[in-house]
Amino acid sequence: MSTPADPRTTWDLPAPGAMPRTADLEPLVTRVLAPNPSPMTLDGTNTYLVGGPGSGQAVLVDPGPDDPAHLAAVEAALAARDARCVAVLVTHHHGDHAEAALPWGARFGAQVAAADVRVAGPDGRVLEPGVRLALAATMLDVVPTPGHTADHLAFRLESGAVLVGDHVLGRGTSVVTHPEGDVLAYLDSLRRVHDLGPSALYCGHGPELTEDPGAVLDFYLAHRAFRESQLLAAMVRGARTVDELVADVYAEVPREVWPAAAQSTRATLAKLAAEGHVVVEGDRVRLP
Ligand SMILES: [Zn+2]
Repeated sequence: MSTPADPRTTWDLPAPGAMPRTADLEPLVTRVLAPNPSPMTLDGTNTYLVGGPGSGQAVLVDPGPDDPAHLAAVEAALAARDARCVAVLVTHHHGDHAEAALPWGARFGAQVAAADVRVAGPDGRVLEPGVRLALAATMLDVVPTPGHTADHLAFRLESGAVLVGDHVLGRGTSVVTHPEGDVLAYLDSLRRVHDLGPSALYCGHGPELTEDPGAVLDFYLAHRAFRESQLLAAMVRGARTVDELVADVYAEVPREVWPAAAQSTRATLAKLAAEGHVVVEGDRVRLP
């Protein structure tokens, strides 16, 4: 199996670090980039404001880190839209998306909504998959997208764009965490978003993907299958531990993301073990 081609390599996307701090993506959506870049968060966390133009209201999706400079940028973006925040939605519980949810929800007097009650808080709303939210003079469909984490949600907008959190990233590929994540669920979630026929993917990190979102989802599916074949090939070559597999399969990847690669590897091994292709005993792996 050859390396799947990433369709984005031929797209005109901003270089890493070159995304504008605030950008109007379409009449419904403004993006505010948080100042928390890292190998795992890419350019930083993307916070989205969603609301009907002229409605005076906006929903905040993935407020991100509870950082004063980020809060100031979000409040400036709300002011530019002449809107107040009427709800805070969160795609999943990771702190780079959820940390500011409760403090900013309290500041704005806005309810927090998420799949996990720990994120939504005692006065929040626990979102059920498939629910349609009527907020800020627009509609948002709650799309279950477990895989990266168990509680992951995406939000489909009236325009056809989908806010995908960490399910799909603007650059590179996402991580299926372990033990919380689930590769089979992740693959189902990729197909579910593909079936929506999104007009754009607004990612939790990295640039928005507008040119051919379906091609990116196809690439993500092919990339996962390729990683499985790489792990099996590395085992045939003699890798017998998770660390040896990571060193073999992720040799080209910066070492600072190897801990995340190890999580994805463990998650993929769990799938392969469930299918009877490998045997996993703690850190040791072997072919049946
Ligand atoms: Zn995450």
